[in-house]
Formats: sequence, C-alpha cells, structure tokens
Amino acid sequence: MAGKKVIITGVPGVGKTTVINSAFDKVTAEGITYQNLNFGSFMFEVAQAEGLVTDRDQMRKLDRTQQKRLQKLAAEKIAAIDGNVIIDTHASVKTPAGYLAGLPEWVISAIMPDTIVLVETDNDQILVRRLSDETRVRDVEGARSIAEHQEMNRAFAAAYSMLTGCTVKIIVNADFLVDKAVDELAAVLR
Ligand code: AMP
Ligand code: MG
Repeated sequence: MAGKKVIITGVPGVGKTTVINSAFDKVTAEGITYQNLNFGSFMFEVAQAEGLVTDRDQMRKLDRTQQKRLQKLAAEKIAAIDGNVIIDTHASVKTPAGYLAGLPEWVISAIMPDTIVLVETDNDQILVRRLSDETRVRDVEGARSIAEHQEMNRAFAAAYSMLTGCTVKIIVNADFLVDKAVDELAAVLR
C-alpha cells in the first residue's frame, strides 16, 4: 500500500508542530492512521550520536556538507516507511551560508509527497512567537528577514511541486485562529 505522504513546512516559530500534533490527534480519533514523523529528529538522532551537536537548533549552523549528509540519511529512513505519513520539516533552512533546500531533488524524489503544506502567518506574529518560546534556540530576526524566508519557502515549494507533481497547500496559522489551521490540515490528511 502506497499511503499518503504529506510534507508540512513553515518557518521556525510559525506553530507548525502544534498544528500538526492537533490535526494528527483529530484524524487519529476518526480512525485514520498516520505516522507523525519529524525530519529534524531523524537528523538529530544521528548528529547527537556522532557528537556533532548537543541541541537540535545547532544543526542549521553545521557545515553544509554535514547538513546534507544528515538530511540524506533522514530521507532514506523516512522514504522506507509505508502507509500514511506526516513529515514535519522545512522547505528551506536558513543557514549562515544562505538558504539550504530542505527537500533537494534526491530527497523529494525519494519521498514523492502527495501534498506539501506551507504553514504561514504574519511576520510580526512569528517574531513575537519566537521571542516567547523558551524551549528552543530560535534565530532572532526582524520581520523583514522573516518575510524573506516565507517568500523563499513558497519558491522552494513551487520547485518541489514541479519535481514531483505534488499539490501545494497554504495554511494560515494566525493568532487566536489555531483551530482553523488544525481543521484545514485535518482536511488535507483525510
Ligand atoms: P525543527 O524541529 O522542525 O525546527 O527542526 C530542527 C532542525 O532540523 C532544523 O533547524 C534544521 O537544522 C533541521 N532540519 C529539519 N528538517 C530539515 C530538512 N528537510 N533539511 C535540512 N535540515 C532540516
Ligand atoms: Mg517544530
């Protein structure tokens, strides 16, 4: 059984993981089975075991060659998983050397997603969410820089669609409207 592959992306602090976990719980309660996978956790497992990092937020500062190697290992493991799969990841990663494609050709073609979801919201809302998240080491950036990253992510998503024929779904996770975002994502998963 091929299963449905849904890749969910969004800049750090947009609330991606929160929306994913709630939508996952919602469809699970309806008897729809998904595996909820976090791409960064697959990378971190290896990076930590190798002593490269002690925190997941250090990975985007690693040398580009290292990041790509960890990315490829994660993609191979994820592509081998059958059935319905949610993949929590990034359309692009903001590294000191520039934007790194989260799903370069050898990754996106191995996964062959049905849909890539972009979770977005206003740049200033993201800025505030990052400042108030003490569980993570979020990059401190201005709203203009966050805007650039969100724009780049749309460009990357269009490229992924061209490579695989997947659809691109934009879901807005606005302040006080998280339930709406969860409903929209659950509809994509059904
Ligand atoms: P997250 O918990 O989703 O913010 O992911 C943690 C870290 O994992 C990110 O800051 C990246 O360094 C890394 N990561 C996640 N997905 C990818 C990907 N597709 N390609 C490269 N790095 C990724
Ligand atoms: Mg997350």
